[in-house]
Amino acid sequence: MALRNVRIDGDEILRKKSREVDKIDERILTLLDDMVDTMYEKDGIGLAAPQIGILKRLVVIQVDDENLYKMINPKITKSSGEDVDAEGCLSVPNRRGEVPRPTNVTVEYTDVNGNLQTMDTEGLLARCACHEIDHLDGVLYIDKMIREIEDDEK
Ligand code: ZN
Repeated sequence: MALRNVRIDGDEILRKKSREVDKIDERILTLLDDMVDTMYEKDGIGLAAPQIGILKRLVVIQVDDENLYKMINPKITKSSGEDVDAEGCLSVPNRRGEVPRPTNVTVEYTDVNGNLQTMDTEGLLARCACHEIDHLDGVLYIDKMIREIEDDEK
């Protein structure tokens, strides 16, 4: 297990576009495991590789006790509806804001065994997938937030 440093807003690496992963090797698998460890340590529900300073299209997500997703080259292939809800980000500490996101999202990604997966998501999982995939394109939730949640509401 290895923890990585989480980059904080203002670090320009968070604004760069990540590259596709073309080969799933030991290095990539270790990186994904380190991302999971770091996400758990920080009590996050998702983490994208640029947040630990690596510009590769890798995302980990766990929004419940059961399902841990390690996604390689994830992309949104379909989305519908719109919902506004609160979001935070490990790279934007001590802030929360309301962000509109699609209610239903289809995500395609490659799993750790190299198999292409298609996943229909809704609610928190859909929101989290959108948030993390945005990181791969240098986009932070604060770019899309329609209202900052003040300290006394948190
Ligand atoms: Zn984030």
